[in-house]
Amino acid sequence: MLDTPAKPASDTDGAPAPKVSFVSLGCPKALVDSERIITRLRAEGYELTREHKGSDLVIVNTCGFLDSAKAESLDAIGLALNENGKVIVTGCMGAEPERITTAHPGVLAITGPQQYESVLEAVHRAAPPKHNPFIDLVPPEGIKLTPRHYAYLKISEGCNNRCTFCIIPKLRGDLVSRPAADVMREAERLVQAGVKELLVISQDTSAYGLDTKYATSSWKNAAGETREVRAKFLDLSHALGELGVWVRMHYVYPYKHVDDVIPLMADRKILPYLDMPLQHANADVLRRMKRPASQEKTLDSIRRWREMCPDLTLRSTFIVGFPGETDAEFETLLEFLDEASLDRVGCFKYEAVNGAPANALDNPVPEEIKEERWHRFMQAQQKISARRLKRKVGTRQQVIIDEAGPTVARGRSMADAPEIDGNVYIASRRPLRVGEIVTVKIERSDEYDLHGSTAGF
Ligand code: SF4
Repeated sequence: MLDTPAKPASDTDGAPAPKVSFVSLGCPKALVDSERIITRLRAEGYELTREHKGSDLVIVNTCGFLDSAKAESLDAIGLALNENGKVIVTGCMGAEPERITTAHPGVLAITGPQQYESVLEAVHRAAPPKHNPFIDLVPPEGIKLTPRHYAYLKISEGCNNRCTFCIIPKLRGDLVSRPAADVMREAERLVQAGVKELLVISQDTSAYGLDTKYATSSWKNAAGETREVRAKFLDLSHALGELGVWVRMHYVYPYKHVDDVIPLMADRKILPYLDMPLQHANADVLRRMKRPASQEKTLDSIRRWREMCPDLTLRSTFIVGFPGETDAEFETLLEFLDEASLDRVGCFKYEAVNGAPANALDNPVPEEIKEERWHRFMQAQQKISARRLKRKVGTRQQVIIDEAGPTVARGRSMADAPEIDGNVYIASRRPLRVGEIVTVKIERSDEYDLHGSTAGF
């Protein structure tokens, strides 16, 4: 359930506002959808709560990416039905309504991802809004489910790629990019509300604007100047880089034009950080996955980028045990890992997703082999990660504080995205504030985290 401000709301007649309990599951993209729905609900005068019991209804924003995520979604729906009884389901799993109704015939309504209007209509039917909504209950930046000092900024929906293990294009359709001016307005509002770090997300960030032929739109910035900005990865990076906050790029595919953005990272206009899901390194596996990448080209890009920006942090995710993956193909992946020397890496054991073309591929990899490969992969990467972190001992790093403590605070350097990367543990003579950015002298490292003390404020 969400940790969202549950500010009491009431109608002008003094009657309490309808209460909605909200469960948000899944990836950061789903979190952005949840934020939009909650913003609308608050605008209409609904009260958000963390308790199913005593609420007028429950909304469950589901994840339908992997079977394990679907099982978690079905459990969350079941719990909400038991504790409340009135449940609306939305999100990725809404694309498979029959699976939900078979398990839970009692749900009130099911809608798919980004169907905000349908969710709102279902809420109105189940718990009508009050007549005089307190529009001003909603701060102009919307309701953020992430801590106030960082926020996700979604720049597009859908995807033009057709990776065989993925059903996101089926669920969310082809790429639809937001106009650059809309993105900039939202980013500026977030910054004005105190956000210090923007996390740019989409399914394929470097493809931003391809569908609109990189359309230009006008945006009036906070200084009142009207600016033209193109819906293109480079142009958006430039514009976001002028906002004076940390800007972190996620889900960037290693296309050639990414080269143009690296100088902005070297100049610290945006963070020197690229989250680049590669999924595999072996050419045959990549072909079976229908991934538009080649190992040699990716290694060349990484070399070039590191020459341009030596402290660039590279993060990636991989899948082991994809159908037909041989021992030799897996070994190529380990060799790539060693050569690429990525800073941060996530690894998933392949899981069949209902409706994904990869399910039809021959030679599924037995579970015990997947497990064994996963362990070997993680052990190999742990050594690389520890080696990369060790190089930071003795340096000074800018760190944003996520959690304040009386003597030790927890934060993240420019190399660490929230929730998926490591932490920096900081001893400080004065208590640090959440969202504050401080200079930290790094004294020690381990496999994933850094430790140090404040050296400047
Ligand atoms: S790039 Fe591939 S994995 Fe990512 S959303 Fe598009 S189809 Fe799915």
